[in-house]
Amino acid sequence: MMRTCDFCWRLCEIKEGRRGFCGVRENRNGSIRTVTYGKVLAAAADPIEKKPFYHVMPGKKTLSAALFGCNFTCSFCQNHDLSQKDSPLFPAPWKDQEPTDTSPQQLVNKMIECGLSIMSYTYSDPVVWQDYMLHTAELVKQADGINCMVTNGSFSPAASQRIIPVIDAFNIDVKGDEAFYSRWCSGSLKPVMETVEKICSAPGKILEATTLLIEGIHDIEDVFQLGRQLREAGVQVWHLSRFFPHYRMEDHRPTSERFLRDALQAAQSCGISYVYAGNSGNLEYAKTRCPSCGREIIGRRGYYVHVEQELMDHLLLGLCIHCGEKIYGLFR
Ligand code: SF4
Repeated sequence: MMRTCDFCWRLCEIKEGRRGFCGVRENRNGSIRTVTYGKVLAAAADPIEKKPFYHVMPGKKTLSAALFGCNFTCSFCQNHDLSQKDSPLFPAPWKDQEPTDTSPQQLVNKMIECGLSIMSYTYSDPVVWQDYMLHTAELVKQADGINCMVTNGSFSPAASQRIIPVIDAFNIDVKGDEAFYSRWCSGSLKPVMETVEKICSAPGKILEATTLLIEGIHDIEDVFQLGRQLREAGVQVWHLSRFFPHYRMEDHRPTSERFLRDALQAAQSCGISYVYAGNSGNLEYAKTRCPSCGREIIGRRGYYVHVEQELMDHLLLGLCIHCGEKIYGLFR
């Protein structure tokens, strides 16, 4: 019997014994299951800034966890080994190494044993293994922890209803315009922006957007257009990262610091409060400045974060020490 998967915008109709577009959701005996459930491929402590999250518990570490799978096919994927169907890790059944069987409780126990209180669902796209993510996230909440999701954001409406109440902070990759998604990702901007709008209007939720800038494919006008859309949706934090040759785009040139600098200025002119440079030596755009008085609140060098204690005391109240302006983020 045909079944519909409601995990992402594709809403795949899956025949008995077959899998959907992502290759990890399977119709077995009339019900759809995630074939990778509990098969953890990566679980390691990272600086929260590496995700990147600059407005969630700055300077803290997170347990980053990933199962296999993604519902896009980006030619520039930075984690294609963990996400794409041409990876030796693709579960067909497992082509190469078996992952570690880890229950949600075991993953939470690992987070606690590492002395951490933040769990990040990341590397591949957790939208295709959201059942495992949500079971884990409930346990993280019971342990008074924080849940962070790094995703392409192409949720189905049903997935938005399930995920947004449980996850505290989202980093959503907003890759380009509709033509970019179609050409390079087998995806669509529309469901991504719908998710961005829903999260921005949900009380207490944090959203940071990230765009990998590919010079020669993106231009500065694209940055303006995307920036305006993000601003209208309510996005306050935008990371713009330099592309380096990777995966199916090994022969494309790296994005220059100069192009990135022009893009950062374009992003700021769109009215986004906090704009950051990624994969860059531009330290000026690594700092968090108060959007009202412009003074520095958080200094960064790579993943090293510097906040003076007095400033941190104010940050815990969500306020700029210099002018009292509210600072966007999750600080505790
Ligand atoms: S998660 Fe998305 S791509 Fe995968 S089967 Fe479900 S609807 Fe299709």
